[in-house]
Amino acid sequence: MADSTELRARGTIHAGGEWRAAVSGATREILDPADALPFAVVAEGDERDTDLAVAAARRAFDEGPWPRTPVAERAALLRRVAALLTRDREELGLLESRDAGKTVEEGRVDIDCVADAFRYFADLVAGEAPGRVVDAGTPDVHSVVVHEPVGVCALITPWNYPLLQASWKIAPALAAGNTFVVKPSEITPLTTVALIDLLTEAGLPAGTANIVTGPGHTVGARLAEHPDVDLVSFTGGLVSGTKVAQAAAPGVKKVALELGGKNPNVVFADACATDDGFDTAVDQALNAAFIHSGQVCSAGARLIVEETVRDRFVTEIARRAERIRLGRGTEDGVECGPLVSAQQRAKVEAYVESALQEGAVLRSGGKRPEPSAARPEAGYFYEPTVLDRCHREMRVVREEVFGPVLTVETFRTEDEAVALANDTEYGLAGAVWTADAGRARRVAGRLRHGTVWINDFHPYLPQAEWGGFGRSGVGRELGPAGLAEYRETKHVYQNLAPRPVRWFAG
Ligand code: NAD
Repeated sequence: MADSTELRARGTIHAGGEWRAAVSGATREILDPADALPFAVVAEGDERDTDLAVAAARRAFDEGPWPRTPVAERAALLRRVAALLTRDREELGLLESRDAGKTVEEGRVDIDCVADAFRYFADLVAGEAPGRVVDAGTPDVHSVVVHEPVGVCALITPWNYPLLQASWKIAPALAAGNTFVVKPSEITPLTTVALIDLLTEAGLPAGTANIVTGPGHTVGARLAEHPDVDLVSFTGGLVSGTKVAQAAAPGVKKVALELGGKNPNVVFADACATDDGFDTAVDQALNAAFIHSGQVCSAGARLIVEETVRDRFVTEIARRAERIRLGRGTEDGVECGPLVSAQQRAKVEAYVESALQEGAVLRSGGKRPEPSAARPEAGYFYEPTVLDRCHREMRVVREEVFGPVLTVETFRTEDEAVALANDTEYGLAGAVWTADAGRARRVAGRLRHGTVWINDFHPYLPQAEWGGFGRSGVGRELGPAGLAEYRETKHVYQNLAPRPVRWFAG
């Protein structure tokens, strides 16, 4: 893997198989969120670098070998990439930890999941029939529906799961035979840069995989509007996602959007009837809200708990939230890292402030922690925060905070629980906790969210589609639908016995 000195020397923009610096010569320091100190320098690309990368991807699609490479060879290459990711797991996991502020163990798990995505899409395409023969109603016609790559894909990704979110786009895009330009978040580009090297090492032809490091308003915006881009797949916030959709609309590009969430975690009292049940529901609610400091699109940030168990539940979750060990993700024993940036922490602080003004009751956190050896004062740390007595008119309940903040609402009936859980403009994910199997299925059926967990929170499967209802997005990643996003469908109708039709007599 290239170290920071090599990155600085060669640049982090990859177009047509060559690493380069930005055309402008501009660079950006990448900060470790645990101490706010720079630990790498990347090229700060702009529209000119984007145009070069798109031109390379266009040439590689129109003239290069990848779209015409047999499916078995494409699948074999993706499997080689998975093996290389596993080989570099320690280094990549550490890099993800330093870049995004997560613990090293979380970084390692991310890399395993990235390798799984490459393996999944390799197996999916390798096992497919090459087309679907359809019955044309006559033996004189052979009619077949085939899938072809879309073309040049622009892939724009966020900072919370940098390489994982990129892999959910890159693996299916390549499996389907496309070429691409990826734009990672300007805050966390390093593992995506490293992946481009692994793709090259695995044998991907030059120009197939391109990357431009740089900001959203220049590189991302240019990618979204570029006339030579055929598809834009974006993961990020609602505001930027809306801009991407608007920029892509005049070109009638295919657009996929994976946006934010405000995810309900609904706990019925019957789930807490035994000590084990109570312990499990509390433990998972803690995990749902605070893993990666709540910077997770599917974070269970809204605890919606049955009134009769509220006091016991909230007391226990607040007690455990206070004991979460915060610190630099690379320190032994640390359970939760800092927020990703000063800006992100300021946003979280503003939400907590507004909630308290609107009447929420602080049960834990609500402030920056005391500095310590594991927690430098300059790091962007914030304590896991539990806000009780919340209601749906509060901003903190309606908007995505994207930080370690759990709000608590209560209900009395099943209908009320469902109404609260669905009362959001988003619809990414939600969970229901209950010991009653019938209720579990009833509630899951009524939740308007793209993923519903019953007596669990957070797991996903590469073979199951991921995405949102409502303003959580358009389209799906993972699963067969996650591959279909990167394909055009073509009907080939062959007349085996052509004759004149004589529609016109003359
Ligand atoms: P963001 O919207 O600020 O940025 C995402 C990406 O878009 C970055 O690469 C950024 O540079 C780029 N960008 C910004 N403005 C742009 C523009 N005008 N045109 C084109 N690109 C632009 O999001 P973020 O803060 O990096 O990530 C957090 C958000 O991502 C949260 O809302 C979270 O819920 C969401 N997210 C969703 C999923 C999902 O699967 N649905 C997964 C992870 C994160």
